[in-house]
Amino acid sequence: MNMQFPDLAGELPGVSIGEDFPDLRDGVRRLCAGFPGEYWRRNEEVSGYPTEFVNALTQAGYLAALIPEEYGGAGLPVRAAGVILEEINAAGCTASQCHAQMYIMGTLLRHGSAAQKAEYLPKIAAGDLRLQAFGVTEPGSGSDTTKLRTRAIRDGDDYVITGQKVWTSRALHSDLMLLLVRTTPRDEIVKKTDGLSVLLVDLTASKGKGMEIRPLKAMVNHNTTEIFFDGLRVPAKNLIGEEGKGFRYILDGMNAERVLVASEAIGDGNWMIRKATAYAKERIVFDRPIGQNQAVQFPIARAYASLQAADMMVRKAAALFDAKRECGADANMAKLLAADAAWEAAEAAMQTFGGFAYATEYDIERKWREIRVGRTAPISVNLILAYIGQHVLGMPRSY
Ligand SMILES: Cc1cc2nc3c(=O)[nH]c(=O)nc-3n(C[C@H](O)[C@H](O)[C@H](O)COP(=O)(O)OP(=O)(O)OC[C@H]3O[C@@H](n4cnc5c(N)ncnc54)[C@H](O)[C@@H]3O)c2cc1C
Repeated sequence: MNMQFPDLAGELPGVSIGEDFPDLRDGVRRLCAGFPGEYWRRNEEVSGYPTEFVNALTQAGYLAALIPEEYGGAGLPVRAAGVILEEINAAGCTASQCHAQMYIMGTLLRHGSAAQKAEYLPKIAAGDLRLQAFGVTEPGSGSDTTKLRTRAIRDGDDYVITGQKVWTSRALHSDLMLLLVRTTPRDEIVKKTDGLSVLLVDLTASKGKGMEIRPLKAMVNHNTTEIFFDGLRVPAKNLIGEEGKGFRYILDGMNAERVLVASEAIGDGNWMIRKATAYAKERIVFDRPIGQNQAVQFPIARAYASLQAADMMVRKAAALFDAKRECGADANMAKLLAADAAWEAAEAAMQTFGGFAYATEYDIERKWREIRVGRTAPISVNLILAYIGQHVLGMPRSY
């Protein structure tokens, strides 16, 4: 039978319980206290980017948590980076406005040349350059990434790029973008995962020279965009790793991404539980706190239990990742369970707040919208279930 259950042999390496990295948590909480709900609401009203917040995180070194010390970062484990993102969201702030830098930097770190790393990583760590944009999704390919069509053709010392990306978040607020492109036509490759390559694009230098970025109005303020390429020239020296192997490079960054995004969901869920619990205790209707009614209390309690379980899965996946052990299944399950638990908490809070959940000043509706994204991006629930079904349980491939 072809079943490859996650690597459970031996002891789990360093899975923490409770408030691990207390100093880190404390520092992030103090920083976030300076960015209350009205900051995020105001920002959303004008579809703005939280520049002050991102600058503060950068200056404090948090966004360089995973960059090795030799390049000016903190060289922390992925669990610590997860704790940072969790605390940001647990404070009511929005980590997704800047989380990409943490995980897409890994592609440059693992597969970039020594010269590329020396050129970019210290500047990213210092905050002189933002690497916040990740161009993978296309309108025509969606979850089926290997069908992407944005084409890069080698011409002398450059690649010439033509095509379109969609949902490229933060592209108007980033200096650099990691871009997945097709360098070999699909009908000339043997394996469908071949023929794709990763380029590091200097967004500032590219604007108006064959690249147009248009804001994409969305339900959440993620500063997301559509990008149109029409003959953009990118120096061939900006190719990361080998031509044609880009899909693999992106894939091997996915586990860190899953763990980090799952950590954010845990923070979001805990924020919702805190708000819902406080409101359930103080809101008096029919002469008693609404939280005295089990129909109000139980959904919050159940969501809390779900979050606790998901949190353990996130910690396990992070511990396996940091111990350099196989963690694909665990990282995917952590992402799935954390996003679902956060959504359960969001729904419980939405219901607990009654009509006031819809009043923007409480931030419930804003967070509720943001939490919902976790069930779709960066990977949808179904695609994770398909991964578990196929790769963990050995059932037939569904696509
Ligand atoms: C706010 C936001 C920010 C984003 N930021 C970025 C970014 O910075 N960079 C980037 O590259 N992308 C980004 N994305 C894109 C995101 O990664 C995709 O939306 C996501 O991967 C799903 O792809 P899709 O929207 O094309 O859905 P589709 O692939 O069209 O899927 C639609 C639905 O069909 C389901 N489905 C499809 N195929 C199957 C199947 N075989 N079995 C079962 N169900 C299936 C999916 O689960 C989904 O529910 C962002 C998206 C959002 C909403």
